[in-house]
Amino acid sequence: MYINENFIKLPQSYLFSTVASKLKEYRAAHPDAELIRMDIGDVTLPIASCVTEAMHRAVDDMSKSDTFHGYGPEQGYPFLREAIAKTDYQERGIDITADDIFISDGAKSDLGNLGNIYSQKSIIGVADPGYPVYVDSSVMDGRGGELLGDGRWSRILYMDCKPENGFKPGVPKQSVDVLFLCSPCNPTGTVFTRDELKEWVDYARRNRSLIIFDSAYEAFVTDPDVPRSIYEIEGAKEVAIEIRSFSKTAGFTGLRCGYTVVPAELKGTDREGNEYPLRQLWNRRQSTKFNGASYIIQRGAEALYTPEGREAIKKNIDTYLSNARYIRQAMEKAGFEVYGGENSPYVWMRLPEENDSWALFERLLSEAQVSSTPGIGFGECGAGFIRLTGFNTPENTRKAMDRISKMNLKRENGAEDDFSSLNDVKAIKAIDELDKLTESLGIK
Ligand code: PLP
Repeated sequence: MYINENFIKLPQSYLFSTVASKLKEYRAAHPDAELIRMDIGDVTLPIASCVTEAMHRAVDDMSKSDTFHGYGPEQGYPFLREAIAKTDYQERGIDITADDIFISDGAKSDLGNLGNIYSQKSIIGVADPGYPVYVDSSVMDGRGGELLGDGRWSRILYMDCKPENGFKPGVPKQSVDVLFLCSPCNPTGTVFTRDELKEWVDYARRNRSLIIFDSAYEAFVTDPDVPRSIYEIEGAKEVAIEIRSFSKTAGFTGLRCGYTVVPAELKGTDREGNEYPLRQLWNRRQSTKFNGASYIIQRGAEALYTPEGREAIKKNIDTYLSNARYIRQAMEKAGFEVYGGENSPYVWMRLPEENDSWALFERLLSEAQVSSTPGIGFGECGAGFIRLTGFNTPENTRKAMDRISKMNLKRENGAEDDFSSLNDVKAIKAIDELDKLTESLGIK
């Protein structure tokens, strides 16, 4: 038996394990320090009571022969697919039907599994920095090519996201087969406006590309000019699959439920140019390799579409958003260069003149007892940045920001000198030297 050697090519993902071991070490060395976790990508607010009540009822259903549920439909129960189609799409003027929707056990599995239905030779395009699953799952499927010295893969197109483009990738010059787009973005918290997303849809239509639109954080969008769904853009149903999750929206990170939208209009071609609906392929894939999400969890997710459920989601999202907004404002004031934190739970930031994400991580940990996620772990364009999240409690968030703000960042990093320090320092040194010279020469 030969193994899939793509797995050995893949470097270990050190980011989260390294953060965890550094925090463990820190705790062991400073048992009295009150560490505040601002790196958490998990939610902290509990599940809404209307959801837990619905799940209790579903558990009771399982105990009676006339309401017992065994294997469910692989695509998901119609009661949930219909609630999603109606509430998340039709009521917002988007023509998506229950037939287009596939219930999943969360976004991560589908992001990886979709690789089953497009050619192994597909060229993949990803934003750098980005959610690591896009690259790693492509590499596992043999689409990476070779790992290069800079940590990038030879067959993957990386779309650099930097301060110059506001951490938003622009459409590539070359043709790419499959594009992973994430808005609101993890880790940078940036979002595509309607016009920007239209450019991507137009690009995909021109180049016959597939867009995999990861909108796991769509519920955080409050700006009316920012689309929550790619299908708000005309023509997107012909080029895009949309992936959504109840994880961050409704606290389902432990329950596991999400959905993937594959519209009937979306088609791919074989080598002879014959067209095939992707929905047919995805349905075939799912009915072979997936036996459906749990009935109990799907009943819980259905409760999110009741008035109480929607109210509960809004409350959770408002809490996380107000944390993120607070972080953004406090960190801007403290002298950081900040992105995200609006329409997103993530804040992406750096100190001018600090190019090392790990150094900044260490500094916040040792001087403020605040943990962060080093941006370099999300791609080489993340160098120098760190990610903070709005998922902690409002009290801890405020306390953490207060501690960072008191860190004397300005003096140590030259922020007080408007970051034009280098020339100023040289000028001051020159004046000092001139003073010394004139003094030694006895000139007054
Ligand atoms: N997509 C993005 C951008 C994420 O950040 C995450 C989780 O952090 C996921 C997908 C996975 O979500 P799920 O919990 O539904 O698997």
